[in-house]
Amino acid sequence: MSHTPGPWEIYDRGKDEPEHQECSIESTADKKADWVAQSIYNKSDAHLIAAAPEMLEMLEELEWSARTIEQRNLCPMCRERYSAGHKANCRLGNLLKKARGES
Ligand SMILES: [Zn+2]
Repeated sequence: MSHTPGPWEIYDRGKDEPEHQECSIESTADKKADWVAQSIYNKSDAHLIAAAPEMLEMLEELEWSARTIEQRNLCPMCRERYSAGHKANCRLGNLLKKARGES
């Protein structure tokens, strides 16, 4: 199962329901989708969560974007080639695995 399509936006529940101080996160691409997250009490956390799909997309664009005169499709962090995959300690590779639920 892939994640709910982005972009995601914050719905400040306190605006319509003063008894609620929390935020929710919803997809702007899929209005029929359920909440991405329903009760987030720290607004800074809500901003970070709402930015996640775009951050993932950006990291995926960067993943194999480095090149040298001789080689292309290199990881900008561990400098491995796409065909070899990331080094075990590559922060970018490991972060993308975490975001994709592969670690
Ligand atoms: Zn890497």
